[in-house]
Amino acid sequence: MLGPLTGGGDVDVNRQVSGLSARVPRPVDYVVVGGGLIGLLTARELRLAGQGVALIERGDIGREASWAGGGILSPLYPWRYPDSVSALAAWSQRAYPALCATLAAETGIDPEWTQSGLLVLDAAEIVPATAWTRRHDVTLRQCNAATLRNLEPALGTAAADVMLLPDIAQVRNPRLLKALVTSLLQLGVTVETGVDVARVTMHAGRVTGVDTSHGHRPAVNVVIAGGAWSSALIQPLGTLLPVEPVRGQMLLLRGRPGAISHIILAGEQYLIPRRDGRILVGSTLEYVGYDRSTTDEAREALHRFALSCVPELARCPIEAHWAGLRPGSPDGVPFIGAVAQTAGLFINTGHFRNGVVTGPASARLLADIALQRRSAIDPASYAIKPRKISA
Ligand SMILES: Cc1cc2nc3c(=O)[nH]c(=O)nc-3n(C[C@H](O)[C@H](O)[C@H](O)COP(=O)(O)OP(=O)(O)OC[C@H]3O[C@@H](n4cnc5c(N)ncnc54)[C@H](O)[C@@H]3O)c2cc1C
Repeated sequence: MLGPLTGGGDVDVNRQVSGLSARVPRPVDYVVVGGGLIGLLTARELRLAGQGVALIERGDIGREASWAGGGILSPLYPWRYPDSVSALAAWSQRAYPALCATLAAETGIDPEWTQSGLLVLDAAEIVPATAWTRRHDVTLRQCNAATLRNLEPALGTAAADVMLLPDIAQVRNPRLLKALVTSLLQLGVTVETGVDVARVTMHAGRVTGVDTSHGHRPAVNVVIAGGAWSSALIQPLGTLLPVEPVRGQMLLLRGRPGAISHIILAGEQYLIPRRDGRILVGSTLEYVGYDRSTTDEAREALHRFALSCVPELARCPIEAHWAGLRPGSPDGVPFIGAVAQTAGLFINTGHFRNGVVTGPASARLLADIALQRRSAIDPASYAIKPRKISA
């Protein structure tokens, strides 16, 4: 069944959720605020560790940044990021094939993990890319014009000296979201949609739950995974979190399967081929507050980019155009951990442009911290402390 915004041929998860929500009668071990990818993955980690979990979403599940994104399982230019982002990405990249296979087996919904490879049409990046890929043991191949023609015959530009990162994969993020919420319901997580969390409640320096548009929800612990809206919930508790909305617009073209087979990156724009022939064209980076509208300028710029890369896309209709609000953070380093002065309060947000690729590692790390387990990733870089927002 197609939902109203499911231009990518993706099923509306919320039809399955509505009616299944339930009140939480006694303090649940964890309330997770936010039904985006980060909240869903965090709820899953906590539930798999035996915790009682309720997830609260004010809209529909997975209809904000996590739905709007492209699903590339790598930062666009990974060598431009701090090692703390690379560490989360690398852990998640290893985890994704098994996660998607498990979800598909549990739910019958295939998130379409696909190892498309990433072609970078930018010779200026070869030096930093080569150094970074050697240091991180990532495969990189330089390609000349002839190799490129073999790899992607439909490419219009005769770019020389491009790079291929063959191991980079993608997921179809709307399907991943649908599989995750279906799995959570099967695991016994309470999922409430259309419920707005107004504030975190406290007593004697400890979290007691959340006040919502539908009454109080008592909880021993609360995890804020509210994406671009997280700061508003945390600030009243005395912690300034420099997370701000950063708009990104996307186009969806209805292409033919196999027209291109790699994710193609040039400058700040990219093409992502889905298995069914649809091609995502992204994206913009706009600091316009909480305005999720689309613009004609972005539509034209993205379309022009797509046609300049692959001229045959001129024959493909534009099927959809949308915008999402990324949870922007300084340097793209997310905030993952406990809020020191408030017992029982945890944060998992600020994933900026990389929440799909860093999500599984972030969720595991948050659960490790909350449950006082040893973690494979050093938590220090993501600790909750006020940081300055850079443009
Ligand atoms: C155009 C675009 C392209 C992208 N491409 C990629 C990519 O290719 N690869 C990649 O790794 N990342 C990509 N990203 C980034 C990625 O999508 C985000 O980093 C990630 O989705 C953030 O997930 P989230 O769960 O924190 O936020 P969201 O998905 O925005 O979810 C937050 C949820 O919290 C809910 N919420 C907020 N406040 C409250 C409240 N008070 N009460 C109840 N619910 C609340 C919201 O309604 C929302 O559903 C892209 C993003 C965009 C916009």
